[in-house]
Amino acid sequence: MTGSTALREVLGPHLRPLAIAALMQVIASAASVVPLCGLLVLIGRLTGTAPGSPWNALLVFLMGLACSAGLNSLALLVCHFVDTGVQARLRRALADKMGRLPLSWFDERSTGRVRQLVQNDVGSIHQLVAHTIVDTLAGALTPAAGLVFCLCIDWRLGLASLVPFATYLLLYSLLAARGNQETVAAMHRGLERVSSAIVEYVNGIGVLKIFGRPDEGSARFAKESADFREEFGALVAPQMRAHAIAVTAISAPFVALVMLAVGAWTVHSGATSPSEVLVTLVAALLMPAGFQTLAASGQARSQAMDAARRITEILHGPELAAPDRPVRPDGTDIELRGVCFGYGEDDSDAMALQDICLSVPAGSVTAVVGPSGSGKSTLAALLARFRDADSGSISIGGVDVREIDESVLRATVGTVLQDLQLLGISVADNIRLGRPQTPMERVVEAARAAAIHDEIMALPRGYDSVIGQDARLSGGQAQRVCIARSILADAPILILDEATSATDPESETRIQEALDRLATGRSVVVIAHRLHTIAGADQIVVLDRGRVVERGTHAELMAADGLYRSLWDSANASSEETREGAEAR
Ligand code: ADP
Repeated sequence: MTGSTALREVLGPHLRPLAIAALMQVIASAASVVPLCGLLVLIGRLTGTAPGSPWNALLVFLMGLACSAGLNSLALLVCHFVDTGVQARLRRALADKMGRLPLSWFDERSTGRVRQLVQNDVGSIHQLVAHTIVDTLAGALTPAAGLVFCLCIDWRLGLASLVPFATYLLLYSLLAARGNQETVAAMHRGLERVSSAIVEYVNGIGVLKIFGRPDEGSARFAKESADFREEFGALVAPQMRAHAIAVTAISAPFVALVMLAVGAWTVHSGATSPSEVLVTLVAALLMPAGFQTLAASGQARSQAMDAARRITEILHGPELAAPDRPVRPDGTDIELRGVCFGYGEDDSDAMALQDICLSVPAGSVTAVVGPSGSGKSTLAALLARFRDADSGSISIGGVDVREIDESVLRATVGTVLQDLQLLGISVADNIRLGRPQTPMERVVEAARAAAIHDEIMALPRGYDSVIGQDARLSGGQAQRVCIARSILADAPILILDEATSATDPESETRIQEALDRLATGRSVVVIAHRLHTIAGADQIVVLDRGRVVERGTHAELMAADGLYRSLWDSANASSEETREGAEAR
């Protein structure tokens, strides 16, 4: 899609008020000749070369000035109002779209790029809507009105007022390098890289400090900045040099020189009066300002087109397919048939899951275990439909998950995942995230069931404490808040991806109790990273390199003496070592 088509799409619903603002600016630019006419008459009347009261001429001058400036301000005001609407619409559309994009979209992009898009690109559209449209019109039409005024006085003075521009353009095109559009795109790419480096640096600073290498991250940022500075210099320096030299052609002394030289000639030949030369000189002196505005707005326009292209690319990007005719699941049995999934190209070596078949009867507990990297978390993501399988099918209550309406699916399948999803809102609102209307008593009830109520009450503002501000929770506490949220959401199916990081034993016991309470009466698939918690599961599925290698109860798998048994033995050996180590200390 070209930049201008993208821009038309982004501005689509707002074109009418923008056209009204543009019309106001056209009238404002046309009205800019009225003060010049008033000035001409005023000089004539003051010097006695024309009959009439100078006050009337002064009134025309002032009214022309007020009309032109007033309409310009009004046009800008309308554009700013439109801009707030455009910004809100775009940010909402981007946020909605990001909610529907597959997770792989975020995997392929750094936080820096996403931030650049939502903040800077939407900001570039602000510059265009709020300022550039009016500035471009003013920059083109106000000098044009001045030119018409000069031409009406005398065609030679009209042509003379164009000489500075022609000289500027000639000098600039001789001195500057080509490829302005490419320059802007290259600058944008460089800025994107610097932005990513900053975000990565800030995100990774904790780890780097722990390992005593805080310079590592800053080195990458410094390198990207230095590269950008170099590229920027190489790209922009020729243009800046050319501009610095050429701009003397539109400077006031040069304009005055040309106008007075031609003016002297026209006065001498009797075609104009000295006052007419004086007023055309004023008009000609005002023209370069408009020209410079036009040049600056050209860059803003091409940036906005670039930004609009990136925004529309996302808005048109592929989503997790929504069903045409959603079907309601009948029951909560889960059935996986021949499920395959890979993160990259469909080379079977790189598949994270291969040919997974699994039945989870309603109300039963299935534990998924396996060595690190065997595909457990990927399986959890597919079950919750954060991603879609490449082949095979996952059905709930006899219906393929792709046929189930998103809101029904979210109400049916609850998740407590490893990366704890607490938002920067109050603890109470975090708990009732899935059901915002829930009364406070039910929130408290859920928190009690998740064994987190007392700790919430100990926070400075209790349930009103805001995460990250006055509520700083430990990993175990955050986990229990997430469990309280799931208890309240009350989904009949639960996907639990247990935390890999160990918490203290007391916290772990409380988490386990909370999880047991949450699991009661639901179909549960638990992704177990530590085995002792799942020995009582109805069925245990053992994954290895993306395939199911064993399945059965704890007793059956122990008797089979396969991968499960060796995982169990090594887990016990390491916990024993930990215990002995603790006792020795
Ligand atoms: P587990 O939860 O058992 O440790 P995962 O499901 O996280 O295993 O990973 C399974 C495989 O998929 C691993 O080889 C891992 O490297 C790969 N993988 C996991 N997440 C991603 C991702 N976002 N992008 C690419 N590969 C991934």
